[in-house]
Amino acid sequence: MENKKFNAFEMAQAQFDNVAEILNLDAATRDLLRFPLREYNFAIPVHMDDGTIKIFRGFRVQHNDARGPGKGGIRFHPQETIDTVRALATWMTWKCSVVDIPLGGSKGGVICDPHNLSMREQEQICRGWVRVIAKDIGPLRDVPAPDVMTNGQHMLWMLDEYEVITGQKYPGLITGKPVGMGGSLGRTEATGYGVIFTVREALKELGLKPENTTASVQGFGNVAQYAIQLYNQLGGKVICVSCWDQQDQISYTFKKSDGIDLDKLLSITDRFGGINKDKAKELGYEILPGDAWIDQKVDILLPCAIENQITGENASRIDEKVKLIAEGANGPTTPEADKIIQEKGIFMVPDFLANAGGVTCSYFEQVQCNMNYFWERDEVLGKLDVKMTSAFLAVSELARKRKLYMRDAAYVIAISRVAQACKDRGWV
Ligand code: NAD
Repeated sequence: MENKKFNAFEMAQAQFDNVAEILNLDAATRDLLRFPLREYNFAIPVHMDDGTIKIFRGFRVQHNDARGPGKGGIRFHPQETIDTVRALATWMTWKCSVVDIPLGGSKGGVICDPHNLSMREQEQICRGWVRVIAKDIGPLRDVPAPDVMTNGQHMLWMLDEYEVITGQKYPGLITGKPVGMGGSLGRTEATGYGVIFTVREALKELGLKPENTTASVQGFGNVAQYAIQLYNQLGGKVICVSCWDQQDQISYTFKKSDGIDLDKLLSITDRFGGINKDKAKELGYEILPGDAWIDQKVDILLPCAIENQITGENASRIDEKVKLIAEGANGPTTPEADKIIQEKGIFMVPDFLANAGGVTCSYFEQVQCNMNYFWERDEVLGKLDVKMTSAFLAVSELARKRKLYMRDAAYVIAISRVAQACKDRGWV
């Protein structure tokens, strides 16, 4: 989203303005929700391994916490900007609201590139980030999590620093911790499974049985792999996956018309979700250009890679057989492409609903930490199914009743809940 061509925060505000019109929100509510409640923009001095001192810039943006403590990841990225963090914090507010979990929206970041930092230097950044912000985050205030280029280890350093400062144990401060250190079972598969819980419900609405459907998937990382696993379990057949080739610096589509074999494909995939092209050829896969995943004769498209992939140029190539798109990735569809998809009458499950399984499971992690009692995997995934299904049904019912596009219906529900919470608190 840190694309120079457009400003992510302006885009988030434009989306909000559109729904504010549909909801006929008053001027004060619009003014409140168009901007974050609080922003922190600070310096983190780090003693580098070579003896120099380097100053890193850190951010935390708390967009809205009317419905509960803020929730959102911390990104380590060399091109991080305050506007990207503002946009992502805003989208977190809508995502938590649409799945009806009692949390608000936040996001954080540090301008840095972990590829060029030692583990010790990264630890200093994590501890420094917490030292500055400790009094403004907390299990009942704002709960961080891993995101782009941060992981469970970074979260544990942050948690440890917080507990040193406060002198108490606060496992619910932060989510995305490793299992056994306060992490939740089921978190790894939560986002991909959540996508398929919504696909299963959408297929019911479309009168299709999963076992009679086929899908084409962009991406073969965490979200895509678990989405494919559950879709296969429901009887669906994936005929294409597309992923990025690190060596060739280009993406490819891997096709098998009678269905991919997930386990075999996983055995030739690296930890970044890149499939080995030569080994795939040996296994009988057809290797096609990277964007070939989009024009396949399938029932379902699952964009699960990165943003801005379905565009004004390629959306018209979507086959007329396609009935459903579920956005596993954040922001895979540009506004121009969205219009084309709407005109084609394709059923759309928008990103902040389809991929909300991750944050919902993070919420479960926090709940388990706060009561210091951990659920079995099946219990976590069962609760996730209930949450995702009821969120989907609420959105699709509104879309049907008010003849709204699914993305607009999801925004209407999410934004009206937050607006109501602000009103109930007497803020506006
Ligand atoms: P990941 O890094 O595990 O996998 C990304 C996959 O996308 C890889 O297979 C990579 O090869 C592929 N890819 C990258 N660029 C590509 C391109 N140009 N064409 C085709 N494939 C390409 O990431 P992930 O965790 O699976 O996340 C995927 C998306 O889902 C992101 O947009 C992320 O923000 C979003 N998301 C993830 C989670 C989560 O819990 N992991 C939660 C919510 C949203």
